[in-house]
Amino acid sequence: AAKNAGRNRFSYFTPDMQVEAERRLRLTSDLRIALPGKQFQVCYQPIVDLATGQICKAEALIRWLHPERGTISPLDFISLAEDTGLIVPIGDWVFRQAVQQARQWRGQFHPSFQISVNMSPVQVRQDSLLCARWSDYLAREGMPGQSVAVEITEGLLLQAESKIDEKLLTFRRAGIGISIDDFGTGYSSLAYLKRFDIDYLKIDRSFVQNLSVDEDNQALCEAMVVLAHKLGLKVIAEGVETAEQRDFLKAVGCDFAQGFLYSMPVPPDEFELLAWPRLAERAADAQGSMAVS
Ligand code: C2E
Ligand code: MG
Ligand code: MG
Ligand code: MG
Repeated sequence: AAKNAGRNRFSYFTPDMQVEAERRLRLTSDLRIALPGKQFQVCYQPIVDLATGQICKAEALIRWLHPERGTISPLDFISLAEDTGLIVPIGDWVFRQAVQQARQWRGQFHPSFQISVNMSPVQVRQDSLLCARWSDYLAREGMPGQSVAVEITEGLLLQAESKIDEKLLTFRRAGIGISIDDFGTGYSSLAYLKRFDIDYLKIDRSFVQNLSVDEDNQALCEAMVVLAHKLGLKVIAEGVETAEQRDFLKAVGCDFAQGFLYSMPVPPDEFELLAWPRLAERAADAQGSMAVS
């Protein structure tokens, strides 16, 4: 009977699924060598202060430069990394890159610059020491907590078993910023916004799209800003693509904006030219002339 059940189960396995399973298998074995093979890159997307128009923060976003397949989006490999546990070393690597980048940019261009790093729920669940390790790393590097922020999703806050209270407290004590990513798309519960000490609420880009024509999204965005401010959080709007969206968000008091209107996520050297064009050019010139002399 077991044999029959096995055979029956197999009949649900269509050729398409076979192809997909093989693709995942290959990608997984490639993923195992991606970190030692230096195939990852961290790109940075600017976050703009809506009051001044200045770039004051960035989000670190990983890219996989696959030797045969070209650039692979995190949407296509983060879940693989989670299933294999590879998310732990990969996530640590992104965090350390972001800390070193924050150190350089704070020293060279902007003393209070902050870089945010994504932390998936699986990452926290699989690795009970993650928060302590990241906090220790910052301290060891002599970097202030505010130089980084972690982006978590709403779902994580609802997982009692993840001991998320304690873990966020570790970040809190280290002075690390905490953001709620993709706000409004998960099981939004207003209670946790009060219960946890959170710094930033990131409005998901699905609410920002069509802002100029969709009155419901206008109402939702405005309400999220009012709510966040009443609870003492700052608001970052994600996925801002047009000047109209920016103007609306500014008018309702949103604090920060991030999106293709300003820039896509870019490598560090491009980011510098975008955020601090005159300083970055001068620094490049100085380096060039030093190299010549
Ligand atoms: P996220 O944290 O919500 O990041 C924002 C995503 O929206 C990025 O996609 C970004 O490129 C994209 N985006 C930014 N502005 C716009 C816009 O104006 N319009 C549109 N259509 N899209 C915009 P990306 O880089 O492909 O990352 C996708 C997701 O992968 C991220 O979503 C995050 O959840 C995850 N991810 C990226 N890097 C990491 C990482 O280092 N660790 C972990 N755990 N997850 C990561
Ligand atoms: Mg994010
Ligand atoms: Mg997001
Ligand atoms: Mg999002």
